[in-house]
Amino acid sequence: MTFSNLVPSLGEALAERGYAEPTPVQAAVLQSEALGRDLVVSAQTGSGKTVAFGLAIAGELLTDGENQPNSQLPRALVIAPTRELAMQVSRELSWLYGKAGLRIATCVGGMDPSKERRTLRSGPAIVVGTPGRLRDHLERGALDLSALAAVVLDEADEMLDMGFREDLEEILDATPDGRRTLLFSATMPRPIVALAKRYQTDALRISLVGEDRGHGDIEYQAMTVSPSEIENAVVNLLRFHEAETAILFCATRDNVRHLHATLQERGFAVVALSGEHSQSERNQALQALRDRRVRVCVATDVAARGIDLPTLSLVVHVEIPRDAETLQHRSGRTGRAGKKGTAVLIVPYPRRRRVETMLRSAKINASWIDVPSPEAIRVKDRERLMAMLLAPVDYDDEDRALARQLMEQRSAEDIAAALVHAHRQTMPQPEEMIANTPEAQRAAQKERHRPGFEDTVWFRIAVGRNHNAEPRWILPLLCRRGHITRNEIGAIRIARDETHFQIPRTIADKFSDALQRTGREESDEDRVLIEPSESGPREQARDNRKRNGPGPRERYKPRPTHDAPPRGPFKGRKKGPGNTGGKPGGRKRPKKG
Ligand code: AMP
Repeated sequence: MTFSNLVPSLGEALAERGYAEPTPVQAAVLQSEALGRDLVVSAQTGSGKTVAFGLAIAGELLTDGENQPNSQLPRALVIAPTRELAMQVSRELSWLYGKAGLRIATCVGGMDPSKERRTLRSGPAIVVGTPGRLRDHLERGALDLSALAAVVLDEADEMLDMGFREDLEEILDATPDGRRTLLFSATMPRPIVALAKRYQTDALRISLVGEDRGHGDIEYQAMTVSPSEIENAVVNLLRFHEAETAILFCATRDNVRHLHATLQERGFAVVALSGEHSQSERNQALQALRDRRVRVCVATDVAARGIDLPTLSLVVHVEIPRDAETLQHRSGRTGRAGKKGTAVLIVPYPRRRRVETMLRSAKINASWIDVPSPEAIRVKDRERLMAMLLAPVDYDDEDRALARQLMEQRSAEDIAAALVHAHRQTMPQPEEMIANTPEAQRAAQKERHRPGFEDTVWFRIAVGRNHNAEPRWILPLLCRRGHITRNEIGAIRIARDETHFQIPRTIADKFSDALQRTGREESDEDRVLIEPSESGPREQARDNRKRNGPGPRERYKPRPTHDAPPRGPFKGRKKGPGNTGGKPGGRKRPKKG
């Protein structure tokens, strides 16, 4: 089927976007039976429903395919649950009706209301907004709905869930009797049916939920991990897929904030979306994703509701969704409009049963697989790197001149290796996962409870991944500076600019004293700052606070090592075997995520 019988301006707008065929929901609202009628449509986001209602109300907006020049009052109103969704709808309708010359006003919470009032006064044909803000404008007389010919409720079920019933009723009560009412909702619970009954007349019911849940486009995967390894699993998934855009779902704002910080620290270009962000922060985050400065978004369910990012190909349920419906809502961010997507559930061992039940009730077939290993990631990286470096490029004269200069000083192989190395440096490191077997998990558990390390103190050293920090040279340095042996060093956590490590409390003072003495020596290596760290690495601090309030570690009052030189990049490290000798601070934050 093609788009036929459309007014030329709409047909051209669709063709320019490359939309040759209507999606099922678009075909359904364009059938002759639906013309001019009230509609109740159950269709998921991603089904093309925005364009669907955009086309469905064309008859109310255009006369003989033209804008109605003398109507100064809005002819159509679209109400959506969130600011993001409203703005998305507004963007879609802007290109759809751009050629017809229709103006659109967007009215959403968090934006400047006086600017919105001005736009409303300028005579837009379509108004798109969130319930609360629209009601404000209505009550202040800025929004006149008396000439309205069509009203669309988008994601009506979400709006009722979010407590907008009163706002909706007040707005609908202010619209003229003869208007069309189009109700779009992914689900049809009783309150939606009641709303439809009250505000619609002889509505045509269109249901496409069964057909286009998108199972065909979304591949579901699930993987069990030990609860302490969830973040490592996320890192490896991102590195394995290298999706153009990926979204990671967490259950709470706190967890969004934490995962966002962790990923940023590990070198991913990432933004966060949760209720704690202002409207302008959210807009900036979405814009960064749209123009691909950033490729990863960590979000809560609510903040990501209705978001449409065409390049989104990976959804990770970092924390398992609360029910089958949330699972589908989240996953439905990908696999949209005929594109393929992957949705991955990271499942802590004890919750596997629950997830299996949830998948069954949603009739989703997921394959249970292991978290991608560093080796599998390296194989993928090699393939991607080869493809990228061998892709045809138009070099300009300056590139060639520099290439000739390089060739005079280095062999072709060295130059190629340097190029590969430079690319590798931009990629965050994959994580070693504990093997997915009960034995390996038990062994790891035992390691975490090493004798002598029941009560430990955190210290920090002012070098991190940016300075090529690795246990193989940090361990000998700590032994030399602190007069201890390797066996007296517990967990080591390497972050971007610093590294934390544990020392048994019984030897912490002795270790501190030795640090003070050796910190006065001459070489750069001996002057690198090593000091007690009251809070420990970030995740530890958080876990401890959650568990017991101030823990024993926080009660330990470390003695400051006053003589240590100020923090700074670690300069004088000798080049060791396997150490690439990268300059401190030389590793730039990658553009990719
Ligand atoms: P929606 O369900 O409105 O969130 O739309 C999902 C995505 O599908 C949006 O990016 C639309 O621009 C896109 N889309 C809408 N209609 C079509 C179509 N007929 N062909 C291809 N893509 C479409």
